[in-house]
Amino acid sequence: MKTTRREFIKKGAAATALTLVGVPVLANSALSCAQPLVAQQNTPFQFRQIPLPYEYNSLEPIIDVATMEIHYSKHHAAYLKNVNEAIVAEKINEVSELSFFKNIASYSVKARNNGGGVYNHNFFWQCMREPKENNLPDGKLAEAINQAFGSFQNFKDQFSTAAISRFGSGWAWLVKGNNALLIGSTPNQDNPLMSVSDFKGTPLLALDVWEHAYYLKYQNKRAEYVANWWSVVNWDFVSKQLV
Ligand code: MN
Repeated sequence: MKTTRREFIKKGAAATALTLVGVPVLANSALSCAQPLVAQQNTPFQFRQIPLPYEYNSLEPIIDVATMEIHYSKHHAAYLKNVNEAIVAEKINEVSELSFFKNIASYSVKARNNGGGVYNHNFFWQCMREPKENNLPDGKLAEAINQAFGSFQNFKDQFSTAAISRFGSGWAWLVKGNNALLIGSTPNQDNPLMSVSDFKGTPLLALDVWEHAYYLKYQNKRAEYVANWWSVVNWDFVSKQLV
């Protein structure tokens, strides 16, 4: 498994480099130097799945290894396959995730659900790290949270309520709206970047409340999953999104 994962990370890193220069991630042929990069400029944007920034067991005991493996390698991978299929089938020609979500009303339900699925999970993985005791934000982020919500405890309570009360499947978010931090939730795989979303803003923090995110360990106890999740929040990542 170690070799496979290392190879995957290597491929992921190569894919990242290519995405940065505007070349979509397709197959190994895209890595070849035989064709000049300019020849591929008309190939539409495609989504990619980031390499997991830690091991499947890194978030134990908060999120169990089996949940992480299935969530990343099955659920997230399926969203990726499906959205890129939709991009080809619908001849979607966007330049970035941002423009894709801005124009999402023009595309199919398959493109919307699976494009959201890829983006949301890429974001979610980065919102987490190994469990820490007294895991709190600091610096400008802590100040911004205090200013918007009165205290960290108020923020935590409001975010937890948004996560627990989202009916069915969806996501809880902390976003930057117009000069203010806001808490909200979205159904299914919608996100605050989508033109069709009632709740909009720049994502800072996301929590997946689909049952597939917690059912193996927590069964029906979503509130317990949410309460425990705070110790794996990667506040450094959240701070970086605030800029
Ligand atoms: Mn999920």
